[in-house]
Amino acid sequence: EAQDTRVGFALVGIGKLTAEELIPAARTSEHAYVAALVSGEPDKADGFARALGLTEADAYTYEQFGELAGREDVQAVYIVTPNSLHREYATRAARLGKHVLCEKPLGVNAEDAQAIVDACREAGVLLMTAYRCQYTPEHWAARDAVQGGTLGDLRLLHSIHAQVEDDPEVWRLKRELAGGGPLPDVGIYSLNTLRFLTGQEPEWVFATQHQPGGDPRFQEVEASMSALLGFPGGVSATIQTSYAAHDTGTLRVMGEAGSLNMDPAFPYDGLKLSLSDDDGTRQPSFPDYDQFTLEFDHFAGCIRSGDTPWTPGEEGVQDHVIMDALYESARTGQVVRL
Ligand code: NDP
Repeated sequence: EAQDTRVGFALVGIGKLTAEELIPAARTSEHAYVAALVSGEPDKADGFARALGLTEADAYTYEQFGELAGREDVQAVYIVTPNSLHREYATRAARLGKHVLCEKPLGVNAEDAQAIVDACREAGVLLMTAYRCQYTPEHWAARDAVQGGTLGDLRLLHSIHAQVEDDPEVWRLKRELAGGGPLPDVGIYSLNTLRFLTGQEPEWVFATQHQPGGDPRFQEVEASMSALLGFPGGVSATIQTSYAAHDTGTLRVMGEAGSLNMDPAFPYDGLKLSLSDDDGTRQPSFPDYDQFTLEFDHFAGCIRSGDTPWTPGEEGVQDHVIMDALYESARTGQVVRL
């Protein structure tokens, strides 16, 4: 039998994303596979391990995390816990000499995220922030249209990403675990994608947020945020996000010669891109793919080649720098310069 040259990953945290997306995606990856699982619930972990063709010995508790050091087949650790735990497990993984793939948001603020970047640099391991949309052909076609001049000089950018959170007890609504509300969880897609499409960084931000006092869901984090961001050359962006509004993600870029519309822009599949100019509207189509398989394959390729991932840790830090400024603006009522 040919030697298995795929990169082995340990998945940390078996929640919804791990169970429903990452484990199935790894199964179809040519370059990555799940070699171990880390979980606070041993029975659940054993069940997933067996379903993957692994054994109980491949399922670790958080207390046993350090034992991954002895697992030469585990080259990378994928952190899929609540946000405030990313730093602890990313840092520990780096010190064990494992490459780190970390879910978004990278941390809970810029300082926290930078600590992850520093730990990985010191340990000499690769770090990738899991910005799945930056690996889709739709988002790349949009980027090519924006940066290739198809739309002419850019003027206006707009993006909404929201979802409804019903359960007041979920970690996403707890500041200590989540770091914030809808902004770092779903609004981050709007922010990250506008930066990706334009290749530009905002120079200033202004934001307002709403936190309804009587709603048990929003005791600790904002329910909604609306923000204005100033990009270079007078390009102006609006971003809106909420945990109390249904949406699948909207993205618009308007230039002098044309515009693009992606709606939905951020779900796992079914993205729809439209490009419009004076000659009409085109809707390019693309072959099927799994966003998480694309991510696994990209990071596995980087581990083999030693190349820096397309979305490194610094990319995750930069979004936190801007989100910190958005929260500061919402708190002070002032424009915040970056
Ligand atoms: P879930 O709540 O479904 O799962 C989180 C898992 O983390 C839990 O099941 C648990 O796994 C583990 N965990 C460890 N400590 C805690 C704790 N104190 N409280 C709750 N859970 C804990 O969350 P998601 O899977 O939706 O999200 C996980 C991460 O992935 C987040 O950072 C999120 O932002 C990101 N995400 C990214 C998406 C994307 O499209 N890229 C989509 C969804 C989420 P166990 O029982 O095994 O220990």
